[in-house]
Amino acid sequence: MHTKPVALVTGANKGIGLQISKELASHGFTVLVGSRNFERGKKAAISVGADARAIQLDVTDQHSIESAAECIRIELGRLDVLINNAGISHAGEPGRKLEEVGNSGRPSVASLDEVRTVFETNVFGVIAVTQAMLPLLRKAPAARIVNISSGAGSLALNADPNNSHREMFGAIYSPSKTALNAITLAFAIELESTGIKVNAVCPGFTATDLNNFEGTGTVQQAACHPVSLALLDENGPTGSFSNERRQLPW
Ligand code: NDP
Repeated sequence: MHTKPVALVTGANKGIGLQISKELASHGFTVLVGSRNFERGKKAAISVGADARAIQLDVTDQHSIESAAECIRIELGRLDVLINNAGISHAGEPGRKLEEVGNSGRPSVASLDEVRTVFETNVFGVIAVTQAMLPLLRKAPAARIVNISSGAGSLALNADPNNSHREMFGAIYSPSKTALNAITLAFAIELESTGIKVNAVCPGFTATDLNNFEGTGTVQQAACHPVSLALLDENGPTGSFSNERRQLPW
């Protein structure tokens, strides 16, 4: 039987997910480095450490999700931590400037196809992966699910006219994170009696491909809070939404 705790991080071949994987490995986890491209996942897993394994996982592909769950069941038998990190900010090629992303997200012009594509990854992908992994999470003594959300999805923060960033609240990325927050709460409520804790976190505005490296924080700063929620003890919260400094309004 595999004795070390096991963590699965989706979208872990780069960015915040890769850094979260490295930190979970340093906390003694066997880390499954989820990547839709297996070759990129293998390279990333090498950089995570000896007890990391790449796993092919496209969160928009039900077959890929079910194969990953089956592989974990056979090889490791359970899952202690699931980090739903995979996410996209738009449907185009990488390298789109933030201003352009913001403009294309304006509700009057947003492409419905792009809304669907972003929701497919950021929302439906999280539901599908969580559903598939739940039987494995239920086998762990105290499983934790961490959903990587964003303050951009907070209705309360963006309804505030004093919020100088609210013009970025568009019809594509922001509502996908609002929906992710709702899904987080729904899972947390359903799983309350099981001891499985489900929380949403904002990692902060971080320089990664997602925002054409226009973010101001580092991946090390961004990974810190998600990792602390993955390591919560039994007294920690469930159904919460926070960043490293405070609870965030939904
Ligand atoms: P990156 O673009 O660096 O990484 C995103 C990761 O998600 C990549 O590994 C990418 O894989 C993967 N991914 C995308 N689509 C899929 C899919 N269908 N199946 C599996 N994996 C997929 O971005 P970040 O590290 O910045 O983003 C990580 C999370 O943090 C996202 O959920 C994002 O919304 C959130 N976040 C980021 C912020 C920031 O400022 N950077 C702020 C707030 C939240 P591939 O390499 O194949 O494209």
